[in-house]
Amino acid sequence: MLTKASELNAYDVALENFDTAADALGLDHDTREMIKYPERVLTVSVPVLMDDGHIRRFEAYRVQHSSVRGPAKGGIRYHPQVTLDEVKALATWMTWKCAVVNIPFGGAKGGVTCDPKHMSQHELERLTRRYTSGILPLIGPEQDIPAPDVYTNPQTMAWIMDTYSMTKGYAIPGVVTGKPISLGGSLGRNEATGRGVFYTVQSACEHLHLPLKGAKVVVQGFGNAGSIAAQLLYEAGAKVIAVSDSRACILNRNGLNIPELMHMKALTGHVEGFPESEPIAPADLLALECDILVPAALENTIHAENANSVRAKIVAEAANGPLTPAADRILERKNIFVIPDILCNAGGVTVSYFEWVQDEQHLFWEAQDVYDRLEKVMKNAFRDVLKIHVDKKVSMRIAANMLGISRVAEAVQIRGIYP
Ligand code: GLU
Repeated sequence: MLTKASELNAYDVALENFDTAADALGLDHDTREMIKYPERVLTVSVPVLMDDGHIRRFEAYRVQHSSVRGPAKGGIRYHPQVTLDEVKALATWMTWKCAVVNIPFGGAKGGVTCDPKHMSQHELERLTRRYTSGILPLIGPEQDIPAPDVYTNPQTMAWIMDTYSMTKGYAIPGVVTGKPISLGGSLGRNEATGRGVFYTVQSACEHLHLPLKGAKVVVQGFGNAGSIAAQLLYEAGAKVIAVSDSRACILNRNGLNIPELMHMKALTGHVEGFPESEPIAPADLLALECDILVPAALENTIHAENANSVRAKIVAEAANGPLTPAADRILERKNIFVIPDILCNAGGVTVSYFEWVQDEQHLFWEAQDVYDRLEKVMKNAFRDVLKIHVDKKVSMRIAANMLGISRVAEAVQIRGIYP
């Protein structure tokens, strides 16, 4: 059994989670063979002209895990620790995630092993365009639709959309989601992951009879998902007592002023030194007594060695794969309610779906319309997963995987195999 985070490979975790849920479903061998593994894996070598005049080569990937229920769908990550196995895991999770919220997409993911914090805008643009050229045979609005993920953003999507469109000779906004509004992006997409996290936390609080007003919240990772979730929880009257980013962890037991913190993060790029806060160690952040812990950073941040210290009532997985299977078991024993990633953070891809629909129809919705539809999708999905959790007496993670996997299984069984 895998126990140490340092020994963990996210793809092993994804396969282990699949097997656990497939066993609970009693899924037959043939169906497993057809849906468990990625359909297509592409590795591309991306040479980029750096600002110093030299060429630097980056390794990059696009993995399509499933196109059973519709076009493959998933973000693109720029991070120094990107590996093919990580991208395979993230693509796998996208498949179950899209099925859990019942949107007509399969799963995919892309990644470039690079350190965007040490690259200029020009270098990032050249990297993005050359990477897009590399994965061109795979992507398209009916085939595979990228979106933002860790350290990519609407500007990155604009470059991908432009590069793809220029090769076809006309504008094709539907090739990516998470675009700027001026290129056919959707209102509410940028905040969608955090907003979805918020809706599932609301549902969990309702289920546990825990008032959100006054609830103590800790957020690990203050990027797009974590900061928006913190903001919405703050606006709902929760007390966000601690947050962290890749550089620092800060604490204020009376509650941090989240709008001001977001303002500072936008200006300086980090949360370190925020007035009316004290620095704490990362291990102490996870161990804070709170009602809701939101891991919103990377995979495997809560593992066998630190899961015991968690003292939250709810863990809301805004990140993909923040808990290792060992941590899952520990939290279950401690009776902590986990909102699993493929449910909790599915708001991003749900509004990506809305964006794609709007692009296809050339008809754009108002922000409130997006929020209302997102709330309905997230709360329905939460209800469906909770029902399996209660009826089958399995963890919320197994329940979510069972729901997602069963929908893909049903689709593949009806489609059959060709040739
Ligand atoms: N990167 C996000 C995720 O992991 C969004 C993906 C998308 O919108 O396609 O769910």
